[in-house]
Amino acid sequence: MIPVPLPDHERRRLAAAIAIIAGVLVLCWGLHSIAGRTPARVEPGTPIEPPVQSPAEPPARSPGECVTEPPDRPVDGTPVEPVGKPAGETLAPMLAIILDDWGYGVAGTKEGLDLPIPLTMAVLPNGPHSRREADEGRGRGHEVILHLPMEALSTDHGVAAPEGTITVDMDTDKIKRLVEEYIEAVGPVSGLNNHTGSKATADRRVAGAVAEVAAEKGLFVIDSRTIGNSVLAAVAASAGAPSAKNEVFLDNQRDEDYVKSRLRLAATLARKRGAIISIGHVDPVTVKAILEMIPEIEEMGVTLVKASRVVEALNVPVMNLADPRLK
Ligand SMILES: [Zn+2]
Repeated sequence: MIPVPLPDHERRRLAAAIAIIAGVLVLCWGLHSIAGRTPARVEPGTPIEPPVQSPAEPPARSPGECVTEPPDRPVDGTPVEPVGKPAGETLAPMLAIILDDWGYGVAGTKEGLDLPIPLTMAVLPNGPHSRREADEGRGRGHEVILHLPMEALSTDHGVAAPEGTITVDMDTDKIKRLVEEYIEAVGPVSGLNNHTGSKATADRRVAGAVAEVAAEKGLFVIDSRTIGNSVLAAVAASAGAPSAKNEVFLDNQRDEDYVKSRLRLAATLARKRGAIISIGHVDPVTVKAILEMIPEIEEMGVTLVKASRVVEALNVPVMNLADPRLK
């Protein structure tokens, strides 16, 4: 059969039809390729599943797992407070480390001041270097509190009471006068905690006199808890001074591995309860253990903060109730 040539207008229509069919085929192939990369085909009208809610507590992380960046720290090493989160968000667990017994130029003083964390330094008032060490700490951005010597039971580790210790046989006015004098001696402080005090912190009148001065001066009170029946935190609360208790003594044994295990315990408690105070001493062993534990504590999702930050977190309900705007 001899093919009959098509007229021009028929050839143009045929060419146009072929072009349209080719175009449709290319489009279908493209859509199919895209669909192949889509994990799940969503039918129109299918409700979209909500994202999985993050738990209130961060999930447990094993060492070496990917971690988020620690809070910003200026390059010059000056510690800073973590930036507060907006109301309603769960705060990251926080741990405050207080180092006691500053003011005597003991071994570990320089290394302690150099710690690249928001440290809280509890400075004894009558040491030969009390004011200088307090000033140096403040200059480096650490928090400084008064480490108030209070009378111990005779069985309290056999520690000799430093000169000027607050004793239960002092009258209330003398106690108040001494506390004020000591606050002046250490310089601007944001709070106080007790040095020894297994006898005096269990005495309601003596602890009350200390707490009243703290409340008048706008200072917080940390009960070091050198004895179980201390009433210092309780009387501070009734006097109107924000307060908190020491939860973990870090260095009852002067051994690096022991101190590290105590820091691990404190960080674990912070994850369970949110905000924790721990207390150690200015000492080369304690300071070295803290320095080496910083990455592990941060990997646990625990932020190291000053004591005032923990006090603030623990006293929020009290402060809110005291706010006249909320009444
Ligand atoms: Zn002390």
